[in-house]
Amino acid sequence: MAIHEILHMGHPVLRQVAEKVSPKEILDPSMKDLISNMAETMKEKQGIGLAAPQIGVSKKIVVIKVPLDSERYPDSEESPLFVLFNPVVTILDEEIQGCWEGCLSVPNLKGYVERPQKIQVDFLDQSAQEQRFIAEGFLAIVFQHELDHLDGIIYIDKLKDTRLLAYCDEYDRYFTEDE
Ligand code: ZN
Repeated sequence: MAIHEILHMGHPVLRQVAEKVSPKEILDPSMKDLISNMAETMKEKQGIGLAAPQIGVSKKIVVIKVPLDSERYPDSEESPLFVLFNPVVTILDEEIQGCWEGCLSVPNLKGYVERPQKIQVDFLDQSAQEQRFIAEGFLAIVFQHELDHLDGIIYIDKLKDTRLLAYCDEYDRYFTEDE
């Protein structure tokens, strides 16, 4: 296994629309290595999702795993490891929810973004079989954030208000509620 370097905002690959992967590519043994490297990189960097373009691979591949009590996202619930190829989102509930998002490709910053709260994701799994997952709440945010990377979109593009973009230190100081 290998830990990949994460590309940062400004790298052109992050702005490309990623290519679809074929079932043949998905079933190729080299894909297993790529997926385990992506999962390992995500864990090492304390991310909760990683899209292939973030490691310089412009293909529609995403891994997501929300760990219990993530350091970056403290109130998160644990999720299984999702491995998605060619995911397509359908919005099921237009009602929006707002969340302070961060991104491994935009280090040390957080920004407030609003997104639909319930979505359906159709994708191919690691056996190249069609799957459907319905995500709500925090997980719906994570899915939409990661899947946006496949279209060359970074959460910064979706900021509700540019005044709600902050360095993590200042976010901790000024934007978290006193307990
Ligand atoms: Zn991101």
